[in-house]
Amino acid sequence: MNILEVRNVVKVYGEPHVDGATTALNNIELSVDEGEFIAIMGPSGSGKTTLLNILSGIDKPTSGEIVIRGQNLNDMKGDALGQFRRTSLGYIFQDFNLLESLTVKENIMLPMILEKKKSAEMEEKVQYLAKLFQIESILNKYPYNVSGGQQQRAAVSRALVNEPQIIFADEPTGNLDSKSSTAIMECLERVVQELSTTVLLVTHDVFAASYCHRVVFIRDGTVHSSIEKKSDRKQF
Ligand code: ADP
Ligand code: ADP
Repeated sequence: MNILEVRNVVKVYGEPHVDGATTALNNIELSVDEGEFIAIMGPSGSGKTTLLNILSGIDKPTSGEIVIRGQNLNDMKGDALGQFRRTSLGYIFQDFNLLESLTVKENIMLPMILEKKKSAEMEEKVQYLAKLFQIESILNKYPYNVSGGQQQRAAVSRALVNEPQIIFADEPTGNLDSKSSTAIMECLERVVQELSTTVLLVTHDVFAASYCHRVVFIRDGTVHSSIEKKSDRKQF
């Protein structure tokens, strides 16, 4: 089943047709299936971050539509869009974005606290995800006292607590050494396989992209080509 549909998306920074305007995205079309693990790759300046921001409702397209499970983001305003983003979408950032003043556990709980979930449910969810991602032993530590790989796994757990339909990851391996990169990509693979969550990542990292089912290459703001993996692992 289709979960994300991108129709004719254009993004112009500045006034269209006025000097200094930049067309960052030009007629992007993309369709993502439920449970897909997809990477967007492209050179610096090709529009990856712009696309991710638009797909995840952080920014608006100049024209075109983003439809997530039948819901058109253009039709959602203010609070409704905020609520949709908090409950239906998950985010993972290159620099983790954990709050330093909270413990790992409190960081993971935060999106559930904002949704006023019951404490028993929050506790169960944290324990389940901590076990899945092997971070049980660091739950009561602060982010600055754990490794980058552990912080990133905490960030993955935080992205999952409200059971989003899609997780958007912006260069999730960007600040990690190869061992932690492997660990995080294996985590995301489990998110797809065991929790059936769709994961879309933007990356420069060929190693990270090798875990995905499909890689879409963008260049100068348009989809240039894509490759799909054969069923056996790590072979395109
Ligand atoms: P990538 O993530 O692939 O490096 P970006 O989406 O950041 O690409 O940028 C695509 C194009 O849009 C580039 O030409 C960039 O300079 C331009 N751009 C990005 N953000 C802005 C902005 N806020 N204002 C003006 N131009 C921007
Ligand atoms: P099981 O079939 O193993 O009993 P459940 O669906 O009951 O699995 O879920 C077990 C735990 O995993 C529960 O705490 C549930 O909330 C959590 N869980 C299930 N799916 C997800 C998901 N997509 N993201 C985050 N947590 C999830």
